[in-house]
Amino acid sequence: MGALRSPRPEFKDLIPYSAKDVRVEVMLASNEHPASLPSELLAKIAERLPDFSFNRYPDPVATELRELIAEANGLEAGNVLIGNGGDEIIFNLQLAWGGPGRTVLDMPPTFSMYAIDAKATGTSLVQVPRLDDFSIDEKAVLSRVGEGDIDIVVVSNPNNPTGGLANESFLIELLGATDALVLVDEAYFEFSRHTMRPHMARHENLVILRTFSKAFSLAGLRIGYMLAQPDVVSELLKVRQPYSVDAFAQWIAAIVFRERPAFEQGLSEILRGRDQIMHGLRLIHGIEVFESEANYVLFRTEHASALWRDLLRNYSVLVRDFSRTPGLEGCLRVTVGTPEENRRFLEATDEVLSSRRAAGYFCKNADGAKASEH
Ligand SMILES: *Cc1c(COP(=O)(O)O)cnc(C)c1O
Repeated sequence: MGALRSPRPEFKDLIPYSAKDVRVEVMLASNEHPASLPSELLAKIAERLPDFSFNRYPDPVATELRELIAEANGLEAGNVLIGNGGDEIIFNLQLAWGGPGRTVLDMPPTFSMYAIDAKATGTSLVQVPRLDDFSIDEKAVLSRVGEGDIDIVVVSNPNNPTGGLANESFLIELLGATDALVLVDEAYFEFSRHTMRPHMARHENLVILRTFSKAFSLAGLRIGYMLAQPDVVSELLKVRQPYSVDAFAQWIAAIVFRERPAFEQGLSEILRGRDQIMHGLRLIHGIEVFESEANYVLFRTEHASALWRDLLRNYSVLVRDFSRTPGLEGCLRVTVGTPEENRRFLEATDEVLSSRRAAGYFCKNADGAKASEH
């Protein structure tokens, strides 16, 4: 009969997380590491591959990786939960602590998954917008949390996509002001070197999120982790899919984590690349650059959408367009790549903007063509 019953009406206006997967020469849109694993690690993996048991179900809680991460953070295995990317943990936290009749608070502009997961889990979303300089409106957050109905507070730290860190004193005050779970998303910890980990002992409600997707070159494998009190971990074990973290990813992540000093040099290079990009952008007329503690840089220009399109079409350079996100009008985000990729991005940006200026060509009529994206 060919009929299809309609899906849940609450999802009618929900937009999937930017599923766009364009392969171009210079990929600077997703805050990935510019390189795959270091070659000495690849050799080690290749050598041991014949012993890997592809036929067995994974360890549901990734015991080996969990213990490694616990030890490195001065915690017990019971404080650690491994996820299929940090994204799975953000979702499961909202399943376990959110849900119908419950409320999550975030601070936009910020990582869009918090709001998408709120919708998908039926959690009410309260948004306390950031100030014009993208710092947190601390008073407004504390006062809103003081109303007592918030179940989860999410702080991306550094904030994606704006790049800045929250004040530590504010986060401590927030932790003390509420019994809501406070998820401090440290996806860029290895770049910012800033963590709330020391405050876990005094604040039961602190949950820290990290990932292997950015600093450890493993975005393709999907491994993230949470540091939290054992009660929080065991609650998430109730709702998660038991085999969400596959055995191969667990195996590779454990190798990578053991060998993490091998990434130090690459990380320093990325930090130098960030300076290269910030410095280069500041030299280009008509660009405002925002400080970053992560591996990406947000900048604002009058011709953002047109620049995004020209970079892609004429230079095969892909950055992220936020110019249609409320609060980020005119903004693009570029991920730090290799020195050569950064140079290509800067030269292309300079050329596009100077030729637009030379043509006396303004964004009013040059913005038409792009599909929306967040
Ligand atoms: C990249 C990112 C994550 C997690 O990414 P995964 O690939 O799912 O581990 C979480 N939060 C923020 C803010 C991010 O930018």
